Amino acid sequence: MNLILMGLPGAGKGTQAEKIVEKYSIPHISTGDMFRSAIKEGTPLGKEAKSYMDQGDLVPDEVTIGIVKERLSKPDCEKGFLLDGFPRTVAQAEALEKLLSELNTKLDYVLHVQVPEEKLVDRLTGRRICPECGATFHVEFNPPKQDGKCDVDGATLMQREDDQPETVKNRLNVNMEQTKPLLDYYGDKGYLVDVNGDKHIDDVFEQIDEKIGGLAK
Ligand SMILES: [Zn+2]
Repeated sequence: MNLILMGLPGAGKGTQAEKIVEKYSIPHISTGDMFRSAIKEGTPLGKEAKSYMDQGDLVPDEVTIGIVKERLSKPDCEKGFLLDGFPRTVAQAEALEKLLSELNTKLDYVLHVQVPEEKLVDRLTGRRICPECGATFHVEFNPPKQDGKCDVDGATLMQREDDQPETVKNRLNVNMEQTKPLLDYYGDKGYLVDVNGDKHIDDVFEQIDEKIGGLAK
């Protein structure tokens, strides 16, 4: 069960990843975790990646792909994996394909969790934080007991700059433009599975489960 999970920020990817991992016991491999553990283990590639990151540079593809290869070669990937945040570009997707064939395996599905943009904006702009104690709330999903006030200390809740509608829309648009070539690539190859993410968490998972259930041995 070799899967890639894609979706815009706020689409609920993290929640679905948790459910997939729980039911099918495959590792959830996010780019950040992969880098952190390679650096922590001090592998040659981890050290190389760190030297780029320390200088604030992007890690070059050959280093990233090397780290992905090390990770996918670990025993816990024997039954498969759920990649999240990699690949980001068509070049990386092509490298992944080559890498999987070297490992005598192949990709099964690219799960694309889709939520209409205006719903994502609602989800992503609803966060409120307490300037006093740092507690976070969400106007829809985790509202404070009293409107606009912190449950802990009663301070007036604020919206972070990052959560303002214009900033959020801009971030979504940049993200959409960046992922479009990748979605086209996987669509053309027949790997892409569209998942309607504008539903209850369990209904979203049901769509995924129906698709991938047949892959489980
Ligand atoms: Zn507070």
